[in-house]
Amino acid sequence: MSLRVESVCLGPFETNAYLLTAEGSPDCALVDAPKGAAGHLLDEIRSRGLRLAQLLLTHGHWDHMCDAAAIREATGCQVLAHRDDQLMIEEIERVRARYQAMIPWLSDADFRGCKVDRWLADGDSVEVLGRRLEARHVPGHCPGSLLFHSPADRLAFVGDAIFQGSVGRTDLPGGDWGALLGSIRSRIYTLPPDTHLLPGHGEPTSVGEEMRSNPYAKPA
Ligand SMILES: [Zn+2]
Ligand SMILES: [Zn+2]
Repeated sequence: MSLRVESVCLGPFETNAYLLTAEGSPDCALVDAPKGAAGHLLDEIRSRGLRLAQLLLTHGHWDHMCDAAAIREATGCQVLAHRDDQLMIEEIERVRARYQAMIPWLSDADFRGCKVDRWLADGDSVEVLGRRLEARHVPGHCPGSLLFHSPADRLAFVGDAIFQGSVGRTDLPGGDWGALLGSIRSRIYTLPPDTHLLPGHGEPTSVGEEMRSNPYAKPA
């Protein structure tokens, strides 16, 4: 059953959400929940008669989890994330001031904590649409950054760890440049070179392409 991945760019930081479907399956899954996902993507999912089974969060930054609570409530989907971002995801109110300073027009409805149903650690497997996704812990941009790798589909959802020709910023609270470079070298550049990388912002790339040309993260 081949996996179909649709990318939707949403919210004030142009965050990519990825809708995962597979032919013949009544289920679908979502990677990340930017502002607007609960309206736009849930309408789309409903109109196709699909059931959202899982919401995978690549990390706890607001632009990736804003609509998670609304989506979980509306669908009963399972939410998965790394425990090191627990505060940002479940208790967003406590870090709200930081975001509000950047985007003052946001309202209470934009800061809703989302309960996480399953905490993932490095190397854990998640069963998604009949295939096994491997979770890899890639801290540095966020302490709880995860990537989700599907060996069968030769792709990985990498959140904000690495982008086409760039890497995630490490100047936000909890960011750590040394940790990020280590994560990229040990957890991303060790994937097969033909693995497609689907990032949290911007265009897709591949492991081989970034190993060759990423100016910030050269292979060790
Ligand atoms: Zn981020
Ligand atoms: Zn982001």
